[in-house]
Amino acid sequence: MAVLQREYGRRALLQQIRLSGRIPRIELADKTGISRATVTTITAELLQSGLIEEVPRADGGDARRGRPRVDLKIRGAARLVAGVKISQHRLSLVLLDFEGSQLATLETDLPAPVLSPQQMAEAIRTAVARLAETAGRSVEEVSGVGVGIAGLVEAGDGFVHWSPSLTDRNVQFGAVLAAELGRPAFVDNDANLVAEAERLFGLGQSQSDFIVITIESGVGMGLVLGGELYRGSRGCGAEFGHTKVHLDGALCRCGQRGCLEAYVADYALLREAAIVPGADPTAEPAKRLEALLKAARSGEPAAKSIVDRAGRMFAMGLANLVNIFDPALIILAGEQMQFDHLYADTVLGAIRTSIVQVDKPPPEVVIHKWGDLMWARGAAAYALDQVSDLALAEMGDHAA
Ligand SMILES: [Zn+2]
Repeated sequence: MAVLQREYGRRALLQQIRLSGRIPRIELADKTGISRATVTTITAELLQSGLIEEVPRADGGDARRGRPRVDLKIRGAARLVAGVKISQHRLSLVLLDFEGSQLATLETDLPAPVLSPQQMAEAIRTAVARLAETAGRSVEEVSGVGVGIAGLVEAGDGFVHWSPSLTDRNVQFGAVLAAELGRPAFVDNDANLVAEAERLFGLGQSQSDFIVITIESGVGMGLVLGGELYRGSRGCGAEFGHTKVHLDGALCRCGQRGCLEAYVADYALLREAAIVPGADPTAEPAKRLEALLKAARSGEPAAKSIVDRAGRMFAMGLANLVNIFDPALIILAGEQMQFDHLYADTVLGAIRTSIVQVDKPPPEVVIHKWGDLMWARGAAAYALDQVSDLALAEMGDHAA
């Protein structure tokens, strides 16, 4: 078997086993189109490497016809991975085994919302060590750490062009992290990881073209086209939050003007909240935001106009996305109730009236409230994928 063919075969079979949960060899051949003989050879190698294991078939198989009574599954104990979600004030982490079962979770506060790359890496190392400890394991046993961070990220080599969580621009953050952790680290844009998790485990499983919009302190987007995450040529694609919605408009924290985020994000709302009667400029940001949204709901005109404009800008941006990509599904993923005004019926209605009208229903818009731990799960799923590739590479070119 040629080397490339073998590599392809191993990867395809491992992926199919992961996707299926438990699967007999014969079905693996049917599902992947790989010949039964090759399936037998490769699964023997995967078994010997300890990445998969045989388990008795649930229904016992058909012994009378001499069929094997075993299924193949991923061997949970083969590897350990951690997923980390960096949000504004804290880190959320999960520890998964190689099968994807959750072994431990952890949430911990960050010393400050913006840190130097080295400080952030140290905070992550401390948190991963505590996470592993919770499960009675050590950092050294973790085969890889996936990290989701907001901003412009080139996932392949963990290069962060810009992130609201880091003091520096243009950082080889993956390398900084790997050096600090002493383990392989995989960094991606956090919204991309949510889209990946939706594609693998969530609402995107049955869709080949869908868009995930994440709303937190910023606005993120993950774009899945033809069943694959689209990253753009520099890893900076699908930056919905920084699409321009206003000529010479409000200043965005990315440094440019007129970005959608500069109208929709919490910091944008807070910038204007001071003009609302009764606003307390000395209160905590979260309290000021809460007061603004409450005033808007009670019909206070200044507050209402700020919040309504955010909703209209958001609807316009989404309608533009629909007009460009014609997705089957848009998933609005955000946890915090504070963004409920963006999910209002008036906003969803405004999207519908602004998209190109054809004789078919508009794409479905669903709201999927993700906790930070689910984002961390997305990061861990990315790590699982990368760690699987490393494990396959370790197997080398030769048959076991
Ligand atoms: Zn911007």
